[in-house]
Amino acid sequence: MSEREQAMTFEEAKERIAALRAEIEHHTYLYYALDAPEISDAAYDSLLRDLKALEGAFPELDRDDSPTKRVGGYVERQFSPVHHAHRMYSLDNAMDEAELINWMEGIEELYGHLPALCCELKIDGSSIALTYTRGLLTQAATRGDGTTGEDVMANMMGVRDVPKALERSSLEQVADPDVPLELRGEVYMPKSSFEALNLEAEAEGKKPFANPRNAAAGSLRQKDATVTAKRDLATFMYSISDNRALWVKGQWELLEWLKGAGFSVNPDVQLCTTREEVLSFCTACLEKREKLPYEIDGVVVKVNDFALQDTAGFTSRAPKWAIAFKFPPEEKTTRLLGITVQVGRTGALTPVAELEPVAVAGSVVARATLHNEDEVHRKDVRIGDTVIVRKAGDVIPEVLGPVISLRPDDALPWEAPTVCPSCGMPVVREEGESQLRCVSIDCPAQAAERLLHWVSRDAMDIDGMGKEIIGRLVEVGRLSDVADFYSLTEPELASLTTGRVNKEGAAITLGHTVAEKLAAAIDASRTRGFSRVLCGLGIRHIGKNMAAEIAETYPSMDALMEASEEELQQIDGIGERAAASIWAFLRTPDNVSVLERLQAAGVAMAVQARPGQAKPQSLEGLTFVLTGTLTDLRLSRDEAADALKAYGAKVSSSVSKKTSFVVVGDNPGSKYDKAVKLGVPVLDEGQLAAVIDTGQPPVL
Ligand code: NAD
Repeated sequence: MSEREQAMTFEEAKERIAALRAEIEHHTYLYYALDAPEISDAAYDSLLRDLKALEGAFPELDRDDSPTKRVGGYVERQFSPVHHAHRMYSLDNAMDEAELINWMEGIEELYGHLPALCCELKIDGSSIALTYTRGLLTQAATRGDGTTGEDVMANMMGVRDVPKALERSSLEQVADPDVPLELRGEVYMPKSSFEALNLEAEAEGKKPFANPRNAAAGSLRQKDATVTAKRDLATFMYSISDNRALWVKGQWELLEWLKGAGFSVNPDVQLCTTREEVLSFCTACLEKREKLPYEIDGVVVKVNDFALQDTAGFTSRAPKWAIAFKFPPEEKTTRLLGITVQVGRTGALTPVAELEPVAVAGSVVARATLHNEDEVHRKDVRIGDTVIVRKAGDVIPEVLGPVISLRPDDALPWEAPTVCPSCGMPVVREEGESQLRCVSIDCPAQAAERLLHWVSRDAMDIDGMGKEIIGRLVEVGRLSDVADFYSLTEPELASLTTGRVNKEGAAITLGHTVAEKLAAAIDASRTRGFSRVLCGLGIRHIGKNMAAEIAETYPSMDALMEASEEELQQIDGIGERAAASIWAFLRTPDNVSVLERLQAAGVAMAVQARPGQAKPQSLEGLTFVLTGTLTDLRLSRDEAADALKAYGAKVSSSVSKKTSFVVVGDNPGSKYDKAVKLGVPVLDEGQLAAVIDTGQPPVL
């Protein structure tokens, strides 16, 4: 136990564990469901490790559904679910040589000797399970949460190196030809294809992928299989779901069989019999990493013999007979050419390092956030310095600090701006904040960010309305606040010039097809719902979840306008700061006029009547909280919530004394513990089904 954990009281540990779990869940969702991580893998792994250490130190707080015990992943509704006949596991990690040696010692202890270890490259892509029935490809599924994956058969049919039928000779080693064979591996995107794809995305004004892994996962999980087929995806196969399904005795033999059956198998494999051999294989792989045409993020070390693997078994998330030795995050040095300042939608000023472009972990880095003024001074980075850039886990580049010995005499310390680089108004730094802020209402940079926020996925989700088009509309004076979106006409959008010219020198316009789509998307946004409007307004401290909570309590803008600051503080999850922020926002004349124009434009400013509203409001006055996965009910949590709301019930995301019932599905979160602690009655799925069927409160 570390000193930090030792010093923690039980209550402190409980709070920290809950906070860590919530934070990890959030990033797991961004990573697996949206393929759009916000933090580096190293940062994510470090959160997971903190949680694991705390759970170790306070075993009473450990839980089976903790993210430390689960395989991360999601099943999106756009794909049919595939139940894995054999679970798909993740891998435990060794973050450095010492941890790898430690694992090998454990293995030696378990078997009484060090068995042969099959060492392979850890391909940085997305797991895939391919099922062959009597030699023919019949199913392809992602890992999902390990138990249920997504059916991506149509998409995998377009991946060239996947055999649609196995080589006939390989079938001789199949133990039972009537049992489908499930083979597993990794779908990846070669580095060069990733770069080409991102160049294309940039040219079309689309958001580039963060790294080849995200590009592979995103391309594999396309709604339209023809899009997947156009992306250059490839596979490396390395495992089988049931090691008894083939007449092979170990991993090495399996790889040989896979090659013979027609699969792509990675050539960098070594069967090692000593610890030293394993360590030098890892070093050699690390050295050749950059030269490989695809991304790897480590080496996987597996006990070779299947019979020995079986004696070791699995934990809830990973095999005990294998370990992933993760390469350290890649670091490079480059020159700091300048520090620019970005203005966000809430006016926060963020210093950004402008770097001499450098290739780090598979992509070119030319900019990196320096977070805030204090951070620049703490790191003591000066313009002209040679700095160390790290791309941990290949996601967000970070400037670690300067190489002082290489500092030129004329290196310039950075001075924080006293005025906003966009509007020239003086900036302020509020007490207790590390961020400088522009508080001007008319700041154009903030306005552009606010407009972008309005069209974003969590808010009004106006598909196709990106930075470039918004920028042009602002330039031509057609867009200055969010209400202006609703006065844009299709012909006007069609003739909007993009600022580019064609070969003949004529200005390129958006054209009818794009304009038609944009106009339809703007129109559709009118009925997104009140909570999305609240989120889209970009009120400080009010994100998506808080907006939903507010709309639950105050279902219309009129009702919200009437609420006092104290009343706003009573809403679940809303603190003093957030309440003050909404209250002030709704009392600023410019904002009120935007709200009025939105209303006049037909944007829904009240919670819409639901289709089920005709039902008797028999659950009015009751508040439900749903936690865990609903497995028997065949309804998602959102659908179950809608069904309850149709009877007039309130569905909240947090448990308090005011909660009437907590419904508990599989793997419930901390809400279950809180319900027990507060004595709130708990319902199971069967009881929930009865409530939804009858519209009557449960009989306990
Ligand atoms: P993992 O990527 O660490 O390792 C398990 C996976 O490795 C397997 O499922 C398999 O698909 C793959 N693999 C590649 N080559 C293999 C080989 N030769 N043999 C066996 N397996 C091989 O685990 P994970 O559960 O897929 O993902 C966890 C990783 O994702 C962590 O590194 C974590 O940092 C990252 N992550 C990051 C964020 C974020 O926000 N940045 C969020 C969630 C997860």
